[in-house]
Amino acid sequence: MSLPDGVSAPDGAARVAVPASARLVLATHNRGKLAELRAILAEQPGLDLPDDAVVSAADLATQEPVEDGATFAENALIKARALAAATGLPALADDSGLAVDVLGGAPGIFSARWAGRHGDDAANLELLLAQLADVRPEHRAAGFVCAAALVTPDGTETVREGALRGTLLTAPRGESGFGYDPVLRPDGEERSCAELDPAEKNAISHRGQAFRAIAPAVAAALAR
Ligand code: IMP
Repeated sequence: MSLPDGVSAPDGAARVAVPASARLVLATHNRGKLAELRAILAEQPGLDLPDDAVVSAADLATQEPVEDGATFAENALIKARALAAATGLPALADDSGLAVDVLGGAPGIFSARWAGRHGDDAANLELLLAQLADVRPEHRAAGFVCAAALVTPDGTETVREGALRGTLLTAPRGESGFGYDPVLRPDGEERSCAELDPAEKNAISHRGQAFRAIAPAVAAALAR
């Protein structure tokens, strides 16, 4: 189903034009996440989904909703609901961040703007390390958390979570990845997330776990 830009659907939601081949829309502007999701869906038995059937919000003229939920799951649902309403397609969104045990789960949903400016990874990381300067290694447990939400046009909502647990280092290590990768050493690893290559990180990541857990619901929605 597609309508020209700016045309309202009967339910009042402003609809955006979507390619005729599109069957699933992903609420991200990040090409890496799109590729990761396509690869995970390709592993699903019985789901033959060509690449052009999965479009991202970056390819569509959608407006980003205000992420004013109090949890990762709520924020993922807010994004998926907005995109399902705008496109008339099943929509998949994720929301993620770092949860530090000794900080009661913070930075949590504020991970991207912990130091005050959205997306300033270096400042966020520096502030976190300063806050934890006196915290002993045995109390530095933390994890990346991801909630993936699927919303279908008939209003069915599914949420699955994934977590990558580890220990926070006292100084950044490694060059790859983004965000807090240089300071989280996954359990059972000697290296930080920024010292893993991207395929190694994807195999164990919170996002990969959440996407793999929700993939059967995506397959079921597309089969309907
Ligand atoms: P988003 O919801 O995926 O955009 O992530 C929000 C914020 O959480 C990012 O800006 C990062 O600070 C942090 N974050 C989420 N996932 C990761 C990860 O895999 N590595 C490092 N930082 C992450």
